[in-house]
Amino acid sequence: MQIVTCIKQVPDTTQVKIDPVKGTLIREGVPSIINPFDAHALEEGLRLKDRYGFKVTAISMGPPSAEVTLRNAVAVGVDNVILLSDRAFGGADTLATSMVLATAIRKLNEEEEVALVLCGKQTIDGDTAQVGPGIATRLGFQQLTSVDRIEELDLKNKRITVRCKFEERYEILNSCFPAMIAVLREINRPRYPTVPMRLMAQDYKVTVWDNKIMQMNENEIGLKGSATAVRRIFSPDRAKGQILGGDEVQDPEDAARMLINKLVSKNLISLQ
Ligand SMILES: Cc1cc2nc3c(=O)[nH]c(=O)nc-3n(C[C@H](O)[C@H](O)[C@H](O)COP(=O)(O)OP(=O)(O)OC[C@H]3O[C@@H](n4cnc5c(N)ncnc54)[C@H](O)[C@@H]3O)c2cc1C
Repeated sequence: MQIVTCIKQVPDTTQVKIDPVKGTLIREGVPSIINPFDAHALEEGLRLKDRYGFKVTAISMGPPSAEVTLRNAVAVGVDNVILLSDRAFGGADTLATSMVLATAIRKLNEEEEVALVLCGKQTIDGDTAQVGPGIATRLGFQQLTSVDRIEELDLKNKRITVRCKFEERYEILNSCFPAMIAVLREINRPRYPTVPMRLMAQDYKVTVWDNKIMQMNENEIGLKGSATAVRRIFSPDRAKGQILGGDEVQDPEDAARMLINKLVSKNLISLQ
């Protein structure tokens, strides 16, 4: 049985800026990283491999440059990596993305039974948290989201128990295989690759599946298969702050007095 982990290469968003004229993300020159949630999904797959002997396959849909992310997955110990890359997959929304990922998982299942699909809860660029549940829906798999712990796995009866973390509560859920699990960061601490593994991964030949291999209907993938479109990207307007003090008020106590008077005048505090 195998576990498939879905990992997405994302721009390091702390450095991403919005082009104010075109209203698009400026990605040029921005370093790419593995989506942080997906690093935890990968780690969980590897821990299940260590404990139960699953084969672990990592898949990513993206441009050829996403090979780097998959090589990093090889360096930490996954058995198989596949890049889903074709111009026809480009411009996909979450519907079309989950369609391609689900088709790839179905194809992998023909080679070896897929017990679990591990995803991150969400990405740090698209941020929708829709792709994992989308994959589960398309495959007819159980879906277990917001998982912060895998409690138990019963291989004989093909059942898994997980803990899901919500705002005010935890839920312990028991489900049959096959299932899609979307993990939170709290689930584990990802391991670091060793130097020999890193060197080995550099020369690893990543398998690429394009649409000649996937044989998907072009109306179900990429831009054509997307039910939604981003019309505009923009930064929210923020109220400009006011600096009290500065050149005209030298004494910090005077600045504090000005602040108190301002807050009192706006009825935000009262002095009693
Ligand atoms: C309305 C809309 C329109 C869009 N239009 C465009 C567009 O025109 N062009 C464009 O480039 N982008 C577009 N995007 C962005 C694109 O849809 C998303 O990047 C992509 O579908 C993944 O969604 P997400 O990043 O929100 O993933 P989430 O749903 O937040 O991700 C959840 C998990 O799914 C898995 N996952 C997600 N994406 C991948 C992947 N590619 N490979 C492997 N695993 C993955 C990961 O495990 C991830 O942690 C659009 C997004 C939306 C919402």
